[in-house]
Amino acid sequence: MPTPFQPRDNLPTSSKKSYVILSLCFVAFGAAIAILTSLINYQLQFSNIDEEVQRRFVIERKNKVEDLSQTVQSLEVIVRALAENQLTQAFIDNPNSATRTAAKHLFLASAHSHRGFMQVRFIDANGFERIRVDRSKDGQRVDVVADEKMQNKRNRYYFTETAQLPARQFWHSKLDLNVENGEIERPVRPTYRVSTPIFSNNQFAGMVIINAEAEQMLSQLVYSNDFDIFLIDGDGEILFHRDAALAWSRYLPGKESFKRVMPDVAAEILVSPNAAVGNVQSFSIDEYYRSGERLQVVMIPKLEAVEQLQSGNMTAATVIAAIVVLISFPLSWLAAMFPARLQSELRSALDALHRTNEVLDRYVISSTTNTDGVITNVSSAFSEKCGYALWELEGKSHNVVRHPETPVSLYQDLWGTIRSGKTWRGELHNRKKSGEDFWIDSVISPEYDADGQLTGYTQISQDINDRKAIEKLLVTDVLTQVHNRRKLDEVLATEMERFKRYQQTFSVIILDLDHFKQVNDNFGHQAGDAVLTRVAELMKETVRKADCVGRWGGEEFMVVSAGTTLNGAASLAEKLRQQLLSLSFDYPIKVTASFGVAQCQVGEALNQLIKRADQALYHAKETGRNRVVSAQEDS
Ligand code: GH3
Ligand code: MG
Ligand code: MG
Repeated sequence: MPTPFQPRDNLPTSSKKSYVILSLCFVAFGAAIAILTSLINYQLQFSNIDEEVQRRFVIERKNKVEDLSQTVQSLEVIVRALAENQLTQAFIDNPNSATRTAAKHLFLASAHSHRGFMQVRFIDANGFERIRVDRSKDGQRVDVVADEKMQNKRNRYYFTETAQLPARQFWHSKLDLNVENGEIERPVRPTYRVSTPIFSNNQFAGMVIINAEAEQMLSQLVYSNDFDIFLIDGDGEILFHRDAALAWSRYLPGKESFKRVMPDVAAEILVSPNAAVGNVQSFSIDEYYRSGERLQVVMIPKLEAVEQLQSGNMTAATVIAAIVVLISFPLSWLAAMFPARLQSELRSALDALHRTNEVLDRYVISSTTNTDGVITNVSSAFSEKCGYALWELEGKSHNVVRHPETPVSLYQDLWGTIRSGKTWRGELHNRKKSGEDFWIDSVISPEYDADGQLTGYTQISQDINDRKAIEKLLVTDVLTQVHNRRKLDEVLATEMERFKRYQQTFSVIILDLDHFKQVNDNFGHQAGDAVLTRVAELMKETVRKADCVGRWGGEEFMVVSAGTTLNGAASLAEKLRQQLLSLSFDYPIKVTASFGVAQCQVGEALNQLIKRADQALYHAKETGRNRVVSAQEDS
């Protein structure tokens, strides 16, 4: 877990580099968008291909149906024109050589005017060919056929079927191949015939029938750039196809039927005309050419056409991708500039912060705890100061370093303050791992997260060890290590102030060693020093914690006893006097002391109190030494 106190390695801060990286990210993003856009577009276009194929099919079907019905109808118009022509009618009503010749000319003229007409005939009610015009094989000439060459067609299906029809109706033959002398003419000539019956006085009087070449009509029907087209009949046989190898399985031996060429498609189309099987479409032309063959046009999209559509889509996708890329690249570059600058600024700010943190970590004694006072983080300076490693402190409480002499009240005050959301300031007496003391001046504050929830406490401290040592030196007597005169004066002033303000009494004891000069004289100055030091130790051990022991001067000591009356102080003096008697030294020295005791009085000045104690001491000396004398109240 990174913390404010743990220095981090400096990151490389080349703003140029981060600019390049960010730019690349943006450009990559732009490119991704471009690719995605193109893919989606391509997919959309791909599904459009089917729709496009369907659209083209509908257009072609419409054109083909129109062409076909126009061709058939124009032939019907001519057949009817011949049938209803006055010359034909005159021949029927009055057959003689004159009327017949006139009618022949009419039929000849009609055959002349249409290159596709192979034969134009009038067949009488008994099935005899009465007028017949044939076109020569090369198609150049049209001749009226001689009478002797004309035949009886009574049993032919076109005669019997036309004879059944009512007036003004047309008969359509099968679409088949021209037969010459009982054999299919080669090369094949697709043929169709249209006839209509003629009535005279409501009696069937014959029929006009035209044989026409079907080649052009069929070519139109199967011509397409986008589709491969079959004309098939209801049996699944192929009538026509642009590829001669596939055409006319119906009539020519050795050819494969549509059922064989496309079995799956054929199966479905033959059952339900006008069906679509996959992308194969079909439509019936029965309505326009009524031969009864159940003719259907089957249209299969050509692979080239579909591929062309696909490649068109691919081109569109590529163009879109290119445009998006061209737009997104410079935009990405521009867009990268702002965050790159921001990032570079942030990075340098972060670096500065890291450096500051490093310094703080190294030099500032600090720590954080959770709300339960468990240490979550300590600075290196703290760890160094107390001699515990970071890991030895984290997870523990500050009790690890707490000095046992620290009063409980201090910690109660500390926790009370920070728990109430306030900052606590004060000096803390601590103990190192090695057992040495150290002092810190601390500021401890509660910490909150962004939601205002208490997360723990932070302590920032200053090392005041040196100051504490100097302070101690200033108030300590160098020889005896009890308080010096300066401290005694301070304590006396404080107690006097407290007495005046709160009427809390106090007493002083002045102690003077008896005949001390002789100790120096007899055993030397060093022995005297040792006695003074030992006496001071004894006094410190004997008095209460609240009492203050100090060296008043030379071989005189003072005890300032807070909250103590004259009697209490006198008892303490007496106790000290007796304990002195039991002291023993390296030399045969017996130490006694005289004591003057005084309790502060209302309205009394400090020097008056001291004077009274001094007088009591003097009195003790006067009356034989090694005794305690209590000062009387000032009169
Ligand atoms: P009395 O019972 O009247 O008090 O007799 P006394 O000898 O104790 O009193 P006096 O005032 O005549 O002598 C005090 C002596 O204490 C003088 C001095 O040499 C000695 N003295 C004062 N300060 C020190 C000190 O720091 N070290 C040593 N060794 N002796 C000291
Ligand atoms: Mg003295
Ligand atoms: Mg003395």
